[in-house]
Amino acid sequence: MLWREATARWLFMRGLSEADNERLRVLSERFIARKDFSGTHGLEVTDRMQVEIAAQACILVLELGFEWYEGWSEVIVYPSQFAPEREMMDEDGVVHLTNDPMAGEAWLGGPVILSYEDVAMSGDEDVRVAGYNVVIHEFAHKLDMRNGDPNGFPPLHAEMNPKDWKRDLAFAYDDFCRKVDDADLRAEDDEGEALDALPIDPYAATSAGEFFAVTSEAFFETPELLEPAYPALYEQLRLFYRQDPLARLTGRRPGR
Ligand SMILES: [Zn+2]
Repeated sequence: MLWREATARWLFMRGLSEADNERLRVLSERFIARKDFSGTHGLEVTDRMQVEIAAQACILVLELGFEWYEGWSEVIVYPSQFAPEREMMDEDGVVHLTNDPMAGEAWLGGPVILSYEDVAMSGDEDVRVAGYNVVIHEFAHKLDMRNGDPNGFPPLHAEMNPKDWKRDLAFAYDDFCRKVDDADLRAEDDEGEALDALPIDPYAATSAGEFFAVTSEAFFETPELLEPAYPALYEQLRLFYRQDPLARLTGRRPGR
């Protein structure tokens, strides 16, 4: 069956109950029915590719509901990384034309754009950082954009405390940025060993918005690395996503 085949190897499926697996499948079907998929450069977005993208996107909203993905409709798939020409303004107010290769992009009120080569890397333990998941990353930005620019502050649930969210994310972000700086300094001597040993992708140190997207990848894909490193942040993400991927993995009693 296509669903089983497409989803079996993913890290975030580990420990998911049969009932949750079925709910995720139904949600993914809804996603495929409601979103328009299009390929670029002659890429045909096959049924299997649609299932792969939909399932990875829907794990984020399994307990939030499909409404979180309403208000836009397009998923654009490139065969591999893409390099759109962009004008970027630097700190001195000078505008540069850039064309850095990208694995994915999420537009405020617009499409999600993905490199299929990167989508296919999810679950591949040998590739890049363990837990690398471009679909979870871009759709975390989409959730963050429910209340404007992606700044690491998505709309929180009524039972959550925004002050706690801010404090716990800022603490983890500052600590992580320091660790990345240290690891960068040592990279020449230790051949990047300290960078490789970081619990999450160093790209998280780019901004608070990227930190939220990358820690969301880790929350679902490698909670066994994220939770011990940043337990308070993990707890905030658990409250936000209303899921406990680590409990699914270890059989730990949900919640604390
Ligand atoms: Zn990002």
